[in-house]
Amino acid sequence: MVKRVPFIAGNWKMNKLTGEAQAFAREFKALTREFAGVDIAICAPFTCLTVLRDELQGGPILLGAQNMFYEQSGAYTGEISPAMILDAGCAAVIIGHSERREIIGETDETVARKTRLALEAGLRPIVCVGETLAVREEKRAVPHVRAQVEKALAGLGPDDLSRVTVAYEPIWAIGTGRTATAADAQEICALVRGTIAGLAGAAAAEKTRVLYGGSVKADNIAELLGTGDIDGALVGGASLNAADFAELIRRALVAV
Ligand code: PEP
Repeated sequence: MVKRVPFIAGNWKMNKLTGEAQAFAREFKALTREFAGVDIAICAPFTCLTVLRDELQGGPILLGAQNMFYEQSGAYTGEISPAMILDAGCAAVIIGHSERREIIGETDETVARKTRLALEAGLRPIVCVGETLAVREEKRAVPHVRAQVEKALAGLGPDDLSRVTVAYEPIWAIGTGRTATAADAQEICALVRGTIAGLAGAAAAEKTRVLYGGSVKADNIAELLGTGDIDGALVGGASLNAADFAELIRRALVAV
């Protein structure tokens, strides 16, 4: 069995000004200095990226963006390219977060294009999938998530997939304080891995990290990580405070 390094990524969403980001980075670096055996990322607003790059340079904490456009350059007013976020210090990028799918209108097609372009640029995409409450209540979560994964990752080979992370985030659990049970989260994360195996083979699926996201906190991370197919978490609210986020990661490390 392949041992996957746990991955905990914070998603700040539309929070923090540059001064707040800098203060967070200084405190968080100090709090996590001794942590080993875990990959940590902070996915910050575009405006905070260069400040964070300068603070985190040379250290183990990865910097991520929360979105990018699906073209390299050109007349796309207000958009940001993969080269631009790389230039701003990013190693990773969230693609297809449910808030972008639901509020901004991102589609499976744009998610697929962005995922490919991120990989071409040398970025690590964190591809988000997950069902609404209505879909879950209609017992369609499994086909819904399977289709999202197939559309986002179709055609990618094992090398590309080893740089992809998939985050399963049930929309009804994001920012609501309502977490999926560890068993429900495990069921869908196993489905994600099985879907990747169907696309690119079992060996590739074993290497791909699958995260759970949705009201993850220090109190529930250990149970989620104990399930088998959950390799870490995409963390929104609980990543905004350096001490809380460091404590969540400390508890993750105890659990794995
Ligand atoms: C998220 O932003 O991806 C998320 C899971 O948010 P929260 O942890 O606040 O539910």
